[in-house]
Amino acid sequence: MLTSQTSPDTEPRAKTKPPRRISILGATGSIGESTLDLIGRDPDAYEVVALTGCKNVARLAELAILHHAELAVVADPSRYADLKAALAGTGIETASGERALLDAASRPADWVMAAIVGAAGLKPTLRAVRQGTATALANKECLVSAGSIFMAEVARHGTTLLPVDSEHSAARQVMIGTKPERIERVCLTASGGPFRTWSLVQMANAGPEQALKHPNWSMGAKVTIDSATLMNKGLELIEAHHLFALSPDKLDVLVHPQSIVHCLVYMSDGAVLAQLSCPDMRTPIAYSLAWPERMHVPNKRLDLAEIGALTFETPDPERFPALRLAKDVLAAGGSAGTVLNAANEVAVAAFLEKRVGFLAIAGLVEVTLTACADLTGIVPQTADDVLEIDEEARIRARGWLPRFA
Ligand code: NAD
Ligand code: MG
Repeated sequence: MLTSQTSPDTEPRAKTKPPRRISILGATGSIGESTLDLIGRDPDAYEVVALTGCKNVARLAELAILHHAELAVVADPSRYADLKAALAGTGIETASGERALLDAASRPADWVMAAIVGAAGLKPTLRAVRQGTATALANKECLVSAGSIFMAEVARHGTTLLPVDSEHSAARQVMIGTKPERIERVCLTASGGPFRTWSLVQMANAGPEQALKHPNWSMGAKVTIDSATLMNKGLELIEAHHLFALSPDKLDVLVHPQSIVHCLVYMSDGAVLAQLSCPDMRTPIAYSLAWPERMHVPNKRLDLAEIGALTFETPDPERFPALRLAKDVLAAGGSAGTVLNAANEVAVAAFLEKRVGFLAIAGLVEVTLTACADLTGIVPQTADDVLEIDEEARIRARGWLPRFA
């Protein structure tokens, strides 16, 4: 019988390969830390070029020293003096602000992890893509907000784009070698979040403390709230549409509370292929880091006998309207994704600040989409167009916020 086990911590490595130069945008976040955890286990295999963060200067400096980074960038210019002081005498370059973030993304590297949260990650990630650097994409908001422009740049520069979101990494793994026309349907799984079994009344009274208690994954605050509303799965449908050029009718969602099966791919011969693993983001991150090979990750091995049962259910559209909104946006195209994403970022931030209740998140997104009907039809040509629409949608969403307070 298989038993639950954690594999050994280290693995002998062939010492012949030159170190790979890697940068991490959003190094101080959950994905950034998990990436550095993998890199730190085999330090001779990597050279850390640039690490970026937004506000947590102490952690950014710690990580830069620990991983011998060449450059540390803090996005928030008001924290620059602290970063400079923390790294004085180390030889590590420091910089701050939007331009510095773009410069960090442009530094010659073999691989970059795009793990900034939100539309703020769009321009830096595009910089890495245009540089032709293999890009591991955790930031799904890039694709929700600017999917067509983003994927056109990936194609134009011949950039290797490696999905990091666990469902998309899973889809990529099982679709390799299959002609696109032989894929009938891709079904993304969702844990259902902490409110999977809650009533609407209970959800109406839920605060950030409850919404941040994800049953299976440990993640940054924004994606954890998105998981609680199921907006995360809606964003992921749009992400999958762009990543894999799949029409909306080929994309679906299934709630799977154990978070073991990450994606199901239905083939034209009736076969259904799935990728399974314990919920640990280091597995999909490792897949992107080792691509086109695989690497050793010392995390928990899947023991199906221990888990016993894998269950699946359809999402409830009444209690989780965010999923419906995202599906409508996916069907609409244009700038609807930009507006949805911007309104959702405003709503999640307001919920985390306890300015609005949990159900107001989807409510605010819905009224913003209606109030931005003049914007959603626009087909943006550049990232600046997208960010202009994003900014206008945020202004309108903030205008609606008091109605939900
Ligand atoms: P996080 O909040 O833990 O970290 C976000 C990182 O972005 C931090 O380093 C932060 O300093 C930086 N950042 C925040 N605002 C910024 C700004 N305005 N400018 C520059 N940098 C900024 O988030 P996370 O959980 O690591 O998620 C990162 C991205 O990966 C998100 O798009 C999320 O949806 C996606 N993702 C995360 C997970 C996960 O398990 N955490 C899984 C799948 C996808
Ligand atoms: Mg995911």
